[in-house]
Amino acid sequence: MESLSVYFINPPSYENRRLIRNFDCATESKGYYIYQPYDFLVLSSYFEKKEFNFIDAIAQNLKSEEVIKKVKKPDLIFLAMVDTNWQEDLSFLKKIYKKFPEARIFVFGDSFIEEYSRQEVNPYITAILINPFELTRDEFIGKKEIQSMGFYHEGAYTKHDLKKKNKVKMAPAQHESFFHPSYRWPFTRHKKYTSVFVSWGCPYSCSYCVVAKFPNLHREASEVIDELRRIKKMGVKEIYFADRSFGVPLTEVKKILETMIIEKMNFSWSAYFHPNQFSKSLLELMKKSGCHTIITGIESKNQNELKKYGRNIQGQKLSELLDFSKKVKIDVCGDFILGLPGQTKKDILETIHYAIKLDLDYASFNIATPLPGSSLRRDALRDGRLRAGEDKNYDSFGYNKVLSNDFLTGDEIKRLRNYAVSRFYMRPKYWLKRLLKIRSFEHLFIQIQEMLYLVIKNR
Ligand code: SF4
Repeated sequence: MESLSVYFINPPSYENRRLIRNFDCATESKGYYIYQPYDFLVLSSYFEKKEFNFIDAIAQNLKSEEVIKKVKKPDLIFLAMVDTNWQEDLSFLKKIYKKFPEARIFVFGDSFIEEYSRQEVNPYITAILINPFELTRDEFIGKKEIQSMGFYHEGAYTKHDLKKKNKVKMAPAQHESFFHPSYRWPFTRHKKYTSVFVSWGCPYSCSYCVVAKFPNLHREASEVIDELRRIKKMGVKEIYFADRSFGVPLTEVKKILETMIIEKMNFSWSAYFHPNQFSKSLLELMKKSGCHTIITGIESKNQNELKKYGRNIQGQKLSELLDFSKKVKIDVCGDFILGLPGQTKKDILETIHYAIKLDLDYASFNIATPLPGSSLRRDALRDGRLRAGEDKNYDSFGYNKVLSNDFLTGDEIKRLRNYAVSRFYMRPKYWLKRLLKIRSFEHLFIQIQEMLYLVIKNR
């Protein structure tokens, strides 16, 4: 196999924002954490360890020039880009292209759902990647013509049917190259952790979410189990199952969890979990295999208002999930979305009080954001709350700007979001509960660190 010089680059961000760039979405860290860039981790499975270099300008606090200096004779460059930092990311792409015009450049990011973002990068790239499984190694290196370029395939979004479950195969990912000390996932119980996928993309279709626009792919249980065995041999104790909604496909997930129990892998782990996936038997298996925390979308006190965005929770699944999680002692982080069209101050305050009343272990309050490809962007453009060309640089933390809704200005929504964070976390009863759940000194350290950053960032 020919040896290559491959660079994975997470570029710098404006004002050194703690940005997390993935294929299907991007986030501004709500605290100071940045988590392991798991899409690059998947891409590492195409290459040998000696072939690739990973430069994370945010984790390593590097400026554009410092990143470019580190790149030597690249054959391939993979660059993460993001809508909320678009101008800086585009300018970085141009610099890289100017310096290395011979390199094959691949880009990925949430922005590429929009045609005009694709047009802007077109002169500088070999291909836009829609997911980390789309191309083969031969296509990356140019040995074989690229068969599908995701968005560009015969004018369709992807060569796959978006919501059909598609099986993908993945060679071993190079986990050992992705253990930077600043990578943290706020729910972990051990500082050193790594990420594993069973499924990529999401089977659900919430229209305010970009992930809904990506194909739903999954791996076979045997492949994931082999990966877990390798991770265990590395001495890693903590896993983040980076699925958008853990539990899909159920047969594969059950095989994985049962093997984790039989082989006494003893990982502690966390994952996103959609209430519709809930069953007592699955949650019991998750607990027995080491799951300590799930993150689940509750979004609003008024579940009915979510239906128009395609979010439908079956029957009593949400309350059953919350009750049973408490019973089997799995911590729950509830995700909430504030400032949706039609929400008043009273509605948002009710959602905040609801979050407190649910007695959750954590809550993540997100601002309704006109993300690329989302119905919120489409509707805001239609209603004139957003103008074409001014629709970038939004994120659910409200770092740059916040979109107004029918009743509240962007500033009011941002203030309500900050109020939600302090109202939820600054309660003596809450702190006591958190302290009683501490499992080790390492766990205590992680929790204090995350709390401090959360408070500082939301002042
Ligand atoms: S379930 Fe979550 S990840 Fe999936 S489409 Fe809905 S909001 Fe997005």
